Amino acid sequence: MDHLDLFQAIARDPQAYARQWKHEHQAPVVGMNCSYVPEELILAAGALPYRLIGKRSPAAGADRHLQVNCCGVVRRSLEDSLSGDLDFLDGMVFANTCDSMLRLSDIWRLNRLSFFHLDMLLPADLTSRSAEAYLPAVMADLKNDLEEGLQVTLSRQDMARAIATLNRLRRRLTALEAARLSGVFPISGAEMQAIHIAAMVMDRHQAARCLEELLRSGQQAAAARVNDSAARRLVLSGSVLQLPELLDCLEEQGGQVAGFDLCSGSRHFAGLVDESLPPLSGLARRILNRPNCPARHGGLLRRADHLKGLVEDTGARGVVFALPTFCDPHAFDIPMLERELRASNIASLVLEIDEAGAMSEQLRTRCQAFMETLP
Ligand code: SF4
Repeated sequence: MDHLDLFQAIARDPQAYARQWKHEHQAPVVGMNCSYVPEELILAAGALPYRLIGKRSPAAGADRHLQVNCCGVVRRSLEDSLSGDLDFLDGMVFANTCDSMLRLSDIWRLNRLSFFHLDMLLPADLTSRSAEAYLPAVMADLKNDLEEGLQVTLSRQDMARAIATLNRLRRRLTALEAARLSGVFPISGAEMQAIHIAAMVMDRHQAARCLEELLRSGQQAAAARVNDSAARRLVLSGSVLQLPELLDCLEEQGGQVAGFDLCSGSRHFAGLVDESLPPLSGLARRILNRPNCPARHGGLLRRADHLKGLVEDTGARGVVFALPTFCDPHAFDIPMLERELRASNIASLVLEIDEAGAMSEQLRTRCQAFMETLP
C-alpha cells in the first residue's frame, strides 16, 4: 500500500487503525474531543493521541442521552462510544469548547465511557491578559492529570521531543499543501482531507515519516497526473467534516479545494510550538496564537481576517461554509464572516451538513449553482 492509500484507509476507518496500533504497541490510546487539546502531552506520555471524529452514520442510540438538536459531531462521538466502537480508549481529554461538547463530557463521565476522564478548561476570551497568565496553568494541570491517569512521569525532555515531532508533522503538512497547490503534488481535495484526518489519529512519528516520503515522491506523482491550473480555487470552512463527496462534487464542477479552514483541517495543525520556550509555556502560546474556532473569542474580526488571508494565500475565488446542522457557534459567526467576505468581493456559499454527513442532491445542485456564479 503506498502512503496516500495508507492515509486514505486510516481516514476511512480510524478506529480500526487505533485498535491495531494499541494491540501492536501494547500502549494506551487517549481520545481528544477538539484541536485545542495539546496532543503533545499525550504523545509525551507514550500514548496515541486519538482525535474523536465519529462514524458517518445516524446516531439513534445517542437519543437516550442527548437531544436530537445537538450537532452530528457530538452525537456521532457519543454513539460510537455507547456502541463499544471506542473500547480501545484508555482515557479522554475534553476541552470545554461549545455547550454541546460540555454536555458530551458530562455524559461521558457519568457513564464511565473511558478509564479516565479529564476536562481542560480553556479561557473563553483568548485575547485577555488573564488568559495569557492562566493557560500555562491549564497545561500544567493537564500534564499532572495525564501523569496520574497513565501512571507515568513526563520529563521536560519527553515534552520537548513530542513538541518537536508535532512541529515536524505540521511543517510537512504545510509543505504538502503548498506542493499540492503549486502542482508538484496534485492530489485532489478529498485526498488532502483524508491526509488531514488520518494525521489526527495515527502514530505521529509514522505520519511525519509518511508525509516526508510522499513529498519526496512528488515529482513522480506530478509526472503521472495532470494539475488543472484553470480550476477555480475555493476555501472550505467549518467544523469536523467527513464528506469527501462534497469536495469531489466541487471539483467535478471545475473547482479546487485549496484551503481547509476546518476543525478536521488546517485549524487542527496551524501554528508551531515555539521550541525555545519551556514546553508548557510554548503549548499555551500556540493555543493563544493559532486560528481560533468560533467557540473561543479571539477578537471580533480575527476569524474573518484569517479566512480572507487564506483566500489570498491560496488564490481562492470563494469560500464554501460546511455548517453542521444545529451547530450554534459556527452558525452565529457566519453572518459576520459573509459580510466581511462580501466587503472584500469574495463570494461565499453556506451549506448545511446533516448529522450523518450525507451528500444530498440538493447539496449537489447548490454546489453546481455556486460554481456557475464564480468568475
Ligand atoms: S462547535 Fe459546533 S460542530 Fe463543533 S462540537 Fe460544538 S456544536 Fe458541534
